[in-house]
Amino acid sequence: MTFNRRSTRIAAASIIITIAAISSPPAIRAFALLPPSSRAAGAGAGVVSPSTRLNVVGEQATSIGPAQVLRNLKESLPQIPWLAEGDAPSSNKIDIPDHVAAVLSHPMAPRRVAENADRTERVRNRARKAAEDASRLRGMLAGEDDAKAWWRTRREVSEGGREVSDDDPLTVLVAGGGLAGLVVAAACHSKGMKVALFEQASSYAPYGGPIQIQSNALRAIQNINPIIYEELVKAGTCTADRVSGLKIGYRKGNKLAGLYDAGDWLVRFDTIGPALEAGLPATVVVDRPVIQQILVQHGFPDGTVRIKSRIEKFEDLGKGRGVAATLEDGTKAYADVLVGADGIWSQVRKNLHGLDDGAGGFAASGAAGGALDDAEARRLARDTVDIAAKADRRFSGFTCYAALASHRASNIESVSYQILLGEKKYFVSTDGGGERQQWFALIREPAGGVDPEPTPEDPHPKLTRLRKEFSCAGSGDDDGNVWDPFALELINASLEGDIKRRDLYDGAPLLTTFDPQRLLSPWAKGPVALCGDAAHPMMPNLGQGGCQATEDGYRLVEELAKVRHTRDVPWALGRYSRVRVIRTAIIQGFAQLGSDLLVDFDLMMTIPLLGPFFLTMTQLSMPFILRFLYTPSF
Ligand SMILES: Cc1cc2nc3c(=O)[nH]c(=O)nc-3n(C[C@H](O)[C@H](O)[C@H](O)COP(=O)(O)OP(=O)(O)OC[C@H]3O[C@@H](n4cnc5c(N)ncnc54)[C@H](O)[C@@H]3O)c2cc1C
Repeated sequence: MTFNRRSTRIAAASIIITIAAISSPPAIRAFALLPPSSRAAGAGAGVVSPSTRLNVVGEQATSIGPAQVLRNLKESLPQIPWLAEGDAPSSNKIDIPDHVAAVLSHPMAPRRVAENADRTERVRNRARKAAEDASRLRGMLAGEDDAKAWWRTRREVSEGGREVSDDDPLTVLVAGGGLAGLVVAAACHSKGMKVALFEQASSYAPYGGPIQIQSNALRAIQNINPIIYEELVKAGTCTADRVSGLKIGYRKGNKLAGLYDAGDWLVRFDTIGPALEAGLPATVVVDRPVIQQILVQHGFPDGTVRIKSRIEKFEDLGKGRGVAATLEDGTKAYADVLVGADGIWSQVRKNLHGLDDGAGGFAASGAAGGALDDAEARRLARDTVDIAAKADRRFSGFTCYAALASHRASNIESVSYQILLGEKKYFVSTDGGGERQQWFALIREPAGGVDPEPTPEDPHPKLTRLRKEFSCAGSGDDDGNVWDPFALELINASLEGDIKRRDLYDGAPLLTTFDPQRLLSPWAKGPVALCGDAAHPMMPNLGQGGCQATEDGYRLVEELAKVRHTRDVPWALGRYSRVRVIRTAIIQGFAQLGSDLLVDFDLMMTIPLLGPFFLTMTQLSMPFILRFLYTPSF
């Protein structure tokens, strides 16, 4: 396992910087040799080339140049589907091939505690208890302590600022109590800063099931607070002991790029090799409420988080005198620094970048920002279309159904994460621990769609749709594709009420601006900075959104910790922003590109020359992508 990590990172970075550079700013995109149809594609539905069988429906992503180029190729180049005959080699069906087995048997590779009745009960109870605690607002700021909170008083600071010392530390306000905000607050506290976190939600009810905290994010947390790290690893389920990869979801491949049957592996990889090479801990999966609870319990003192507190606007007090934030009810909060960790529809970003009214909003995004129930999800799906247009966010072209199925998966012993690729959709699943599988089905269709209300004839409209979309019997789905049964195994193990739906939005990898201030310091201005999804919302394919938020939190506070005088705060935040923006733009680009290309993957493979080349590149690139992600310095 010896190789030059630095040159790998540089190579991966160069490829993706190029991709990112041609992906985003319209002026640059004009040079990306996109035929005019590609721009029209972004405008709306039904981008269909009659000469192919692609039959893409739904609104398409507009901001990722290379994906659009490849999509155009898929639509316009000749395809040879009649070569899809014959039997696939049996080696395509082996879960753990020799190259993965060799890494998993490394003496340093982790060994998972096999699921058993005790463990299952413990993991499930822990998640339930954490969610209950969160909704009871344990540890939140309230009552008398709220009235006496330090941030209510504006401190008299003379022009030019004040000295910062251990006795008189920096003071920090954080907007948003998702993963990014909680990590920032924990990091600030660990450096002796005073921190207050404002969360808009009326109940701190977390959205969603478990997420992967990958090796890079675990290292960031370890650096911030070793106790939090240990608690997370203890609570988590190791996934790095099994194989991950991409499978063809529904039908045979072709002789150009090799033959594949439904359910055959296209790409298999391990996540532990790159982690061991970088000296990082093994990736774990932890329930979101548990992550939240651990951060609140061990990250900072009780009363740091204030609920029902939406930060509406802020004023830079200028010349080292800090910032004044105004909450929705008019309450003022004062500090040296404001961090906007308020998710994809960030109000802080709206103010910082002077976006249209309506660009900030309450919409589904990440951990705590999701819809609480089905009625709210319907409203958010529609509202979000408007907010996204004003907030300069990109509709990915996909709606996402997600659930945590209480079910011991048939592949649990050998597979920890897999994607079944299909036509206009794909199905992702990961072991969530405690004999539960987290799955999400991404289906390409226009934004704003909602499911029918349940009726006596169809009390389970989401399940009805998903059973058809991933049908593994008879004539299969509406396109006649018969799916590998694993998708239905998980869908059928899920309850209608547990299935959440949301449209997926993300951001352009690089700023669509030539404003020098924003280019030099894209996420920061004066005493205010963005982090997490507020700065770089990304598609979930790489499971890195929260991990990058965690890296942000670490780096941001490392830079702030160097500040010895408040006049240096803008410099520190600017440096944080410059250090982070390239790496996160690259990862955002990977995630967008991956998502746009995963769909109709086998159509890609039926294009002479390009198809086999593309498949080989996908197979070869995954270890390099992981090596780029898993770095100890960020
Ligand atoms: C299906 C899916 C699977 C994913 N899986 C993974 C994974 O395995 N690993 C991973 O690392 N990431 C994953 N992600 C991404 C991850 O969920 C997000 O990147 C992460 O939650 C972002 O955290 P955040 O704190 O930046 O934003 P959010 O979680 O959106 O939190 C923002 C918070 O700010 C609050 N807020 C908003 N506006 C204001 C305001 N004005 N004032 C005060 N509060 C405000 C919101 O209520 C919310 O609580 C996944 C995402 C999806 C959709």
